[in-house]
Amino acid sequence: MRKDLMDILVCPACKGQLTLTIENEINNEVETGAMNCVQCEVDYPISDSIPNLISPVKVT
Ligand SMILES: [Zn+2]
Repeated sequence: MRKDLMDILVCPACKGQLTLTIENEINNEVETGAMNCVQCEVDYPISDSIPNLISPVKVT
């Protein structure tokens, strides 16, 4: 996904701001990584350049 998507994406649960963590980046696009919501304490994984906002992973 393009990094500027972060400007419009919000946490689907609390509508809060998400923090991007990049694991792998190709051509200015995030290939793998995660978007973290501090309020919900969850990570939304990004894999194959697609952000997954459906199944958040609880941060412990
Ligand atoms: Zn949230």
